[in-house]
Amino acid sequence: MASTLTDRLSHLVKTMRGQARITESNVQDMLREVRMALLEADVALPVVRDFIARVKDKALGQEVVGSLNPGQVLVSIVQKELAATMGEGISDINLAAQPPAVILMAGLQGAGKTTTTAKLAKHLIERRKKKVLTVSADVYRPAAIEQLKTVTKQAGAEWFPSAPDQKPRDIALAALDHAKRHYFDVLLVDTAGRLAIDEALMAEIRELHATIHPVETLFVVDAMQGQDAVNTARAFKEALPLTGVVLTKLDGDSRGGAALSVRQVTGAPIKFAGVSEKIDGLEVFDAERHAGRVLG
Ligand code: GDP
Repeated sequence: MASTLTDRLSHLVKTMRGQARITESNVQDMLREVRMALLEADVALPVVRDFIARVKDKALGQEVVGSLNPGQVLVSIVQKELAATMGEGISDINLAAQPPAVILMAGLQGAGKTTTTAKLAKHLIERRKKKVLTVSADVYRPAAIEQLKTVTKQAGAEWFPSAPDQKPRDIALAALDHAKRHYFDVLLVDTAGRLAIDEALMAEIRELHATIHPVETLFVVDAMQGQDAVNTARAFKEALPLTGVVLTKLDGDSRGGAALSVRQVTGAPIKFAGVSEKIDGLEVFDAERHAGRVLG
C-alpha cells in the first residue's frame, strides 16, 4: 500500500511552518499529491480534475489562523471538500409514500443487488420496524429468484414468488397487489442485471420504474469496479431517476474512490455501504469516514 496522503504531505507541511498565508506554489505542490492519491484510489480522471479545481479555489489566499500551519489548513480543506463531495450528513431510506413504499434495486449483475435487497430488508425490519416483502423480477436467471428467496428468509422478511416465464412488469404488479392486500409497509423489487450495460436491460428497468412508481430507486455498485463505475453510473443515471446509491464490497481492499465518481456522476446520495457478504453487512454510509479512506 502506498504511503498515506498525510505522510506524503508531511514534508510540505514542514516547509510551510511559520508562514502566515498559503501561497500559490504551496497549493500547487499539495494539489499534485492529492491528485496522485485520488488517482491511486481509482477516482475517475474528470472527477479528479473537478475536485482539484474546487480545492484550489478554496485554498488560495486562505488565511491561516491560530496554531495551525498552512499545511494542516490545506489538508483539512481537502478532507472537508472530499466529504462534502461524497455527501453531507446521513441519508436513510425514504419511506414517505402511501404504503407499500416501493424500492427498486438497479445495477449490473454481480454488483450485489440481491444480497443488498436482503440486507436492506433486515435493516428496515430491525431499525424502522417495517413489514417487508421482497420480489425478484430477474426472469433470466432462475437461480437469482431462488437466491432472493434464501436471503429474504435469513433477513426475516417475506418473499413473493416469481417465475422465468413471467414478464418483469407483471411480476412487480402482482407483488404490489399482494403487498397492498396484506398491509406490507415496504416492497423491495430486485431486478435483472447484465454483465455490461445493454439497451434491452435499460428499457426493461425503465418500464418497471414507470409501472410501480418507486419512492426509492437505488443504484447498487461494486466499489471494486474502480474506474468502470463511472460509465455504469452514467448509463443508469440516464435511464432512471436514481434516488440513492449503495456502494458494495467496501470490505475489499479498494480505496473506495468509486464513491466520489459515482456520487458526482449520479448526483444521488450514497445511502449505504456493503461491508461483508453476510446479511448484517450493511452500514449507513459515512462520507467523512470514507474521505479518510479514499485519501489513504
Ligand atoms: P447481483 O447479481 O447484483 O444480485 O449480486 P449478488 O447479490 O448475487 O452478489 C454478487 C456477489 O457479491 C455474491 O457472492 C455476494 O455474496 C457478494 N457481495 C455482495 N455484497 C457484498 C459486500 O458488501 N461485500 C462482499 N465481500 N461481498 C459482497
